[in-house]
Amino acid sequence: MVKNTSVQITLILFIMSILGLSAGCQQIAPEATTDLPASTSSPSQTPSDGFTNARKKMVQLQIQGRGIQDAAVLEAMREVPRHKFVPDKHLDQAYADHPLPIGFGQTISQPYIVALMTEALEVQPGDRVLEVGTGSGYQAAVLAEMQAEVYTVEIIPELADQAREQLKEVGYTDVEVKNGDGYYGWEENAPYEKIIVTAAPDHLPQPLIQQLKEGGRLVIPIGPIGAVQTLWLYEKIEGEIQTKNLGAVRFVPLTGEH
Ligand code: SAM
Repeated sequence: MVKNTSVQITLILFIMSILGLSAGCQQIAPEATTDLPASTSSPSQTPSDGFTNARKKMVQLQIQGRGIQDAAVLEAMREVPRHKFVPDKHLDQAYADHPLPIGFGQTISQPYIVALMTEALEVQPGDRVLEVGTGSGYQAAVLAEMQAEVYTVEIIPELADQAREQLKEVGYTDVEVKNGDGYYGWEENAPYEKIIVTAAPDHLPQPLIQQLKEGGRLVIPIGPIGAVQTLWLYEKIEGEIQTKNLGAVRFVPLTGEH
């Protein structure tokens, strides 16, 4: 019986994965595990909003089910109302296993990708975090939920305004949103303990490495436009940069003058 359930869950995850890939935007093809952990039913701090169960399921099946273990990431993603960052016409898919369009040719990332990148950052409460590519504001909300001090840069003015407004409305009033080209980081608030880039350049932006604190971590997809890219973790250790390949992804391009 347990074995049958596991096989069914694996099958569902596999089918969801294929559907996500066909959306043609940010995606990865992770291995779905049959070894699903039991539900960690921590009481939600926010009152039920009609999506509480959808969020719990999203975390259990899409995120824990694929091996994400950082308790703070899991808790944050159980808390942040993702549906508030999704256009109304896609509300019914707010917790689905794929990215969604947010207008201007951009996307809100697949939940698993948000979890994977956030876990790789190893966010600690009080960390100063720079996000490049605000988009909907959802990733910034997850970081803020983890008690990071969040600075986020978005190149499309309308999206920057919309995300700023939405973050405030949902209650993440301390997140700083700037309209600008995130290739150059956000110098005034540097250095950052953590930097996350949610659009793909074809090379590592040097200003971001310069704005990373000693001991800091930078997570970024790098690769050609419209093709499979590689998600990299960079760590600055005693002035040296160490790298780790986190796997294949597909992101929208990092645009701008560079
Ligand atoms: N993190 C976002 C979220 O949670 O919704 C998803 C980001 S979406 C995949 C990538 C975003 O990066 C888009 O909103 C795009 O406009 C933005 N972007 C692209 N190039 C940029 C640049 N040079 N500087 C800042 N933002 C950029």
